[in-house]
Amino acid sequence: MEGLQDAADANEGNRAAGTSGYEASAQYIEGELRRAGYEPVRQAFSYDQFELISEGLAQISPVPTTYTAGTEFTTMSYSGPGDVTAAVTAVDINLTGDRASTSGCEAADFTGFAAGDIALIQRGTCDFGLKVSNAAAAGATGVVIFNQGNDAPNDDRTGLVNGTLGTELSAIPAVGVTFALGEALAGTEDAVLRITVESAVQTINSFNILADTRTGAADRTVVVGAHLDSVPEGPGINDNGSGSAAVLETAVQLAKTTKKNPLQNRVRFAFWSGEEDGLQGSNYYVSQLDKAGLAGTLANLNFDMLGSPNLVRFVYDGDGSAFPESTAPRPTGSDEIEGVFEEYFAGQDLASAPTEFSGRSDYSAFISNDIPAGGLFSGAEGLKTEEEAAVFGGTAGEAYDPCYHQECDDLGNINRRGLDQMSDAVAHAVLTFARTEADLRGGADVQARRLAPAGVELEFRGDEALK
Ligand SMILES: [Zn+2]
Repeated sequence: MEGLQDAADANEGNRAAGTSGYEASAQYIEGELRRAGYEPVRQAFSYDQFELISEGLAQISPVPTTYTAGTEFTTMSYSGPGDVTAAVTAVDINLTGDRASTSGCEAADFTGFAAGDIALIQRGTCDFGLKVSNAAAAGATGVVIFNQGNDAPNDDRTGLVNGTLGTELSAIPAVGVTFALGEALAGTEDAVLRITVESAVQTINSFNILADTRTGAADRTVVVGAHLDSVPEGPGINDNGSGSAAVLETAVQLAKTTKKNPLQNRVRFAFWSGEEDGLQGSNYYVSQLDKAGLAGTLANLNFDMLGSPNLVRFVYDGDGSAFPESTAPRPTGSDEIEGVFEEYFAGQDLASAPTEFSGRSDYSAFISNDIPAGGLFSGAEGLKTEEEAAVFGGTAGEAYDPCYHQECDDLGNINRRGLDQMSDAVAHAVLTFARTEADLRGGADVQARRLAPAGVELEFRGDEALK
């Protein structure tokens, strides 16, 4: 993490994809991998990054009001540019009861919609991108998407909607607002709004770093990943220098054991780029796997934030037991991966808690292709509950990471004891899946969690502080 902090310090304070800070981070990681005997390779890719230049939302009539960006409205990522003033028409919204909504998901929702109007659309059921493209097809000149206003565990369905429309600019501008503002606009007769968005895309050229163990079956590859890029706002030492450091140290220590104890399964260590711009690097990696490559990927382990100052030891809920309503795929074997982490922590007399297996990090493309995945998370901008504080310590009512995506996410923003515990779990899981002979993806004879890691354990510096 010091190496990554140095990389940020020497490069305008950040390590974002496509910047010199990312290049410096990559050189640091590659140097350490080579010293440990790996031959890291760069996997190049490019994508269009969304750039918001300015934004505005105002009610022109009946009550002239200027809304505040960031609290009352926010521009959707990949919103197209535009300056439109038009009447507002609500599209198939539902403000009562459970507020179940398919607003804007079907072309039929726009029957009778007057071309030229701004569409007022409710969150729910389908992607924001589909809602906005349906609106554009119906002749809308702009879109306001308001939060759904329903109850969803661990998801804010009343505050500001901060969403993305995909990977290219939409045809019309689109902003997100709170449920309250959406409800108010829906109840305002003859409302006229003005939406102004200046936006663009710029092409980012970046690369993942991949390094394979020298032993282990290539057709049973365990991909162990962490995103190396930061947000442009800061050095990203917790997000995700912490996960990168844990994966790097695991690679270094694993290399020391495998000469005497060849691995059953190949481990591919992956340092993803472009995660903060929409999982770009991991999506590209999976898109480049052919049929044999997909079939030959035993599992993906993902580590995105491990040292949050106010941490909870979260394990991805791969069996869906804690978040049964989650809509992300749960490939067979994801349950076993969760079990390995949970049993590890239990064996250390450390509490852990499930976190939604949502697909909102670099395991997304893997689970979308039926490859089991799992991982750890120490918490981001969410607030620690009273119950969590009672079990894990720390401060209830405060963010797990108060510097999430900010300039202050530096070396001082790390819970070192927590990171030590989490990185030991990383090492344990990597070794377990590197050595398992179980048919993790088959379902019938899944034995991974009961297979001991062949009498080899990794030693981490500073381990003593744990016990
Ligand atoms: Zn992250």
